[in-house]
Amino acid sequence: MASDEKVKRRGALDWYFKSNLLIRILIGLVGGAIVGLIVGPKISVIKPFGDLFIRLLKMIVMPVVFFTLVVGSASISPARLGRVGIKIIVYYLLTSALAVAIGLLMGNLFHPGLGLNLSAGKAAGRVLKQPSVVDTLLNIVPKNPFGSLASGAVLPTIFFAIIFGIGVSYIMESKNERMKNAGTVVFNFFDGAAEVMYKVVGWVLQYAPIGVFALIAVVFGAQGAKAFGPLGIVTLAVYLGLAIHLVVVYGGLLSAYGLNFFKFLGRGKEAMLTAFVTRSSSGTLPVTMTCAEENMGVSRSIFSFTLPLGATINMDGTAIYQGVCALFVAFAIGMPLNFAQQMTVILTAVLASIGTAGVPGAGAIMLLMVLNSVGLPVEAGTPVAMAYAMILGIDAILDMGRTSLNVTGDMAGTAIVAKTENEIDLGKWEKAK
Ligand code: ASP
Repeated sequence: MASDEKVKRRGALDWYFKSNLLIRILIGLVGGAIVGLIVGPKISVIKPFGDLFIRLLKMIVMPVVFFTLVVGSASISPARLGRVGIKIIVYYLLTSALAVAIGLLMGNLFHPGLGLNLSAGKAAGRVLKQPSVVDTLLNIVPKNPFGSLASGAVLPTIFFAIIFGIGVSYIMESKNERMKNAGTVVFNFFDGAAEVMYKVVGWVLQYAPIGVFALIAVVFGAQGAKAFGPLGIVTLAVYLGLAIHLVVVYGGLLSAYGLNFFKFLGRGKEAMLTAFVTRSSSGTLPVTMTCAEENMGVSRSIFSFTLPLGATINMDGTAIYQGVCALFVAFAIGMPLNFAQQMTVILTAVLASIGTAGVPGAGAIMLLMVLNSVGLPVEAGTPVAMAYAMILGIDAILDMGRTSLNVTGDMAGTAIVAKTENEIDLGKWEKAK
């Protein structure tokens, strides 16, 4: 009798757990947008359901990154790690520069903000001090690796995990039997811990449709209508730029390396969607890693390094957004940027994206730096501040698209580098997905 009940109870939720996860997430996405637009700001009562999803993802990010990266770097020779590192960093920098250029192109085509006449007034002015390059580099080495792990600082954690992993591989190869055994135990422990974390990722994703519904409903309830209003041109220019970058840059690069773009999209869609709704590349990492490993067949020794690094330093979507928004602010106050200023935007936007965590709204903070570099500091009461505030009003809508592209760029680079290193199981690309 008791077991009969159990069977029945499990059956009652079959429609949920046994249906396709991605379709459920998509229903959550579209349903959330519609309900948010209809109900308006009051929908914020369901915010805790969205927050729960973000918390669950955050809960697993650092363990996934740390365990996977130790295993990854213990399984690859230091020389190879160096080569992979150089390849991926060159890819990340080049694609980011292309992205800002596409953003500027969109801005020059659409002239967002033109005619707003916020009046130049006291706009032009001082340039804030940028954080020094030396400090940025030094900060990669953690003073306290456990502190970095606990506070969620990705770059110092990457640094420590790599050193630790290399240490493990040396111990495993030791001639001394005791050391060898000890190394193998440590390796197996981390390997097992990483596997456990991937299991947990799968469970967290089962909650995704509900979390997605709540997250999207709240954003559309508060800001949805605005994105279609006067700021529609900015939204359009940003999203068109994102689409062009996706198809031309990633599509082109993937094809150049013999990888099918459409198959790539099919294999990365869970991560793209998760990034879209969570607006955090770091939060999406566990899902991005699962896509790279299970759907694209990339070896752990590659993605365990390239993906956390990409989530931190590679933000092509953000770069596009900055290009468009810098022009928006300049047009809005009636001081269009000249060619030299636009070149400065490219340089600052690429630099600004390095070392900034992939969290919601980070791009809007970095935009401050970019605006500063072309003499448009945001100061209370100035027209620049008014234009900037307008952008902030729809930031969540822009953040969804740019974060999704940020994550897609990390996956494209990872797949390409894995291909050049022969560390990708192309069999996984043959199966329908
Ligand atoms: N939310 C973005 C990310 O996590 C960063 C940004 O705000 O542009 O990648």
